[in-house]
Amino acid sequence: MAKLQKGTFTGQAGGHGGDIKVALTTDGEHITDVKIVEQHETPHVGDNAFKWIPERIVHYQSLAVDAVSGASFTSRGIINASKQALQAAGGDLADWSQPVPKPPVVAKDQTVDVAIAGGGLTGLTMAAFAIKNGLKPLIVEKNDQVGGSFRYAAGAFATVGSKKVADNQIDDLINWVKELNTHGAKKEMDYDFLRYLEEHTGETFDELVDIAGSKPQIAQEAPYKFAVFGGGAFIVNALEKYIKDHGGLILPDTVITRINVDESGKHATGFAARNAAGCFTVTAKAVVIATGGESYGHKEDLVKTTPSLEKVHVFNEANPGNTGDGYGLLKEAGASFYEGNIYKNAFLDFGWPLRISYANVPDYSKAIVVNDQAKRFTNEAPFFALNLTTALYYEGSPRYYVIYDAAKMDQTFRKKLDAQKEDPKVVVHAGSVKELAEKLDLDPAALEQTVAGYNEACAKGEDEFGKDAAHLESLDGADGYYGLYTMPGSWGTIGGVKINRDMLVEQTDGSFFDNLYALGEMSTNELFSDFYIAGFSLANYSTEARLVAERLAAN
Ligand SMILES: Cc1cc2nc3c(=O)[nH]c(=O)nc-3n(C[C@H](O)[C@H](O)[C@H](O)COP(=O)(O)OP(=O)(O)OC[C@H]3O[C@@H](n4cnc5c(N)ncnc54)[C@H](O)[C@@H]3O)c2cc1C
Repeated sequence: MAKLQKGTFTGQAGGHGGDIKVALTTDGEHITDVKIVEQHETPHVGDNAFKWIPERIVHYQSLAVDAVSGASFTSRGIINASKQALQAAGGDLADWSQPVPKPPVVAKDQTVDVAIAGGGLTGLTMAAFAIKNGLKPLIVEKNDQVGGSFRYAAGAFATVGSKKVADNQIDDLINWVKELNTHGAKKEMDYDFLRYLEEHTGETFDELVDIAGSKPQIAQEAPYKFAVFGGGAFIVNALEKYIKDHGGLILPDTVITRINVDESGKHATGFAARNAAGCFTVTAKAVVIATGGESYGHKEDLVKTTPSLEKVHVFNEANPGNTGDGYGLLKEAGASFYEGNIYKNAFLDFGWPLRISYANVPDYSKAIVVNDQAKRFTNEAPFFALNLTTALYYEGSPRYYVIYDAAKMDQTFRKKLDAQKEDPKVVVHAGSVKELAEKLDLDPAALEQTVAGYNEACAKGEDEFGKDAAHLESLDGADGYYGLYTMPGSWGTIGGVKINRDMLVEQTDGSFFDNLYALGEMSTNELFSDFYIAGFSLANYSTEARLVAERLAAN
């Protein structure tokens, strides 16, 4: 082994939320310890990276360890910071980059009550509720950690009728969704199905709070109430522990390759799976496909439904497992699908170095948003924040900018912008509209015309895109302007396979499988129009899972 200086050395590198600092200790010949001494990552999301990456570096005496999937930015931050620390200890990276073997996985045939494909929000809640109802579940998850897209979620739960948070808002909520859909929705949804699920969400919420052993709080009162009892990653970890503690099986790093159906063509016997150790079969009384949507790497499919997306860069925040694998498996098994999935809108995403996410986005409702032609195209203070992302999808511009009046914007946020290096893909500051346009590579005359037109609308209190007078604040530029690069974000997809009220999969002839279920983002067409609504996934997908588990136990 190559020589190192003995002692503890620090290194620092960018993670997801800022720099991660590590302290790497050597005895002169080996790496004996790696500790995280500073980090600003989203709570719980990087937990497995903080645990596994240092352990693996010390175990394998190598910095060529794999990132933890679903926490890749955090993983890379730890690895890069460790590399820096190792170099500070006099190490040559080439000597410390030996390939690392993959952790062992098991490939043996299994028989369980409920075979679950995918260990995201839906798969985990399905397994937990199966256990609560006396059934034995097995989850097969293609990533090395469970959680799927839900690991990144805020944990918002649109709850109705929960005893623990005492609320009852079903009519308000359904009416609000109907009102939302009058603001530019192009796609139909099934309000009765939504009502049916929402009516059961309170009980699901209370049961999940018990499983997680946490304290619920109402996090938002308007326009509809949602409660939180932990961030997505916290709930994921709690569910994983509950499942393992109660004899449920979770097989990570394993993919489903086929749904097995018997000669009747109506009954699933289980599925075929594959991992590094080989191929095997899972046999079960019920099969649940919970492999999520198809937002990752499937833009060509989404463009068919929304052609304007062709040129649009979409910040995809969903888990890399969100690939639509389950669609292919279900198609092969003879399932019937809705035409065309669409992106599930997220809040706006800004240039990466700004580290602004949906959770801490500055108020853009009094600014203007322009496309690559320097034109406004929508009301920037829409009915609901997520309508704006959808407007960006439909507009189809390859780049967008939010333009603020420097003197009128939030001054704390302004300081944050001033700390950035100017970059048209992040933020620029200018003394005049003309200068701003030049820095953003927009047509100066067009931007001047847009700003002048907007200021006129502010003076009249009347806007061509319907922005209300309270948000019409002129851009005078007394202290200049800021232009921020922004693009739509996506949390996944809406669409998928057809199911009935029992969540059984419909076949191409209109009949239904008798034990093959598709839950969660796999089958969301009925539950959403063009607008995704925060808190509805956790509420409705986990409720689907609970209802299926209870029905399976009753039969
Ligand atoms: C940033 C962000 C914030 C969000 N915030 C909220 C919120 O606060 N409240 C809320 O209700 N919703 C929220 N959501 C939405 C919510 O997280 C998703 O809708 C939800 O996770 C979907 O659950 P799912 O189990 O259907 O799919 P996923 O969570 O995507 O899980 C699917 C799983 O299946 C696995 N898989 C895929 N193919 C295979 C295969 N062939 N074999 C085995 N496994 C496979 C994937 O790896 C993945 O782990 C948020 C989403 C994001 C991205």
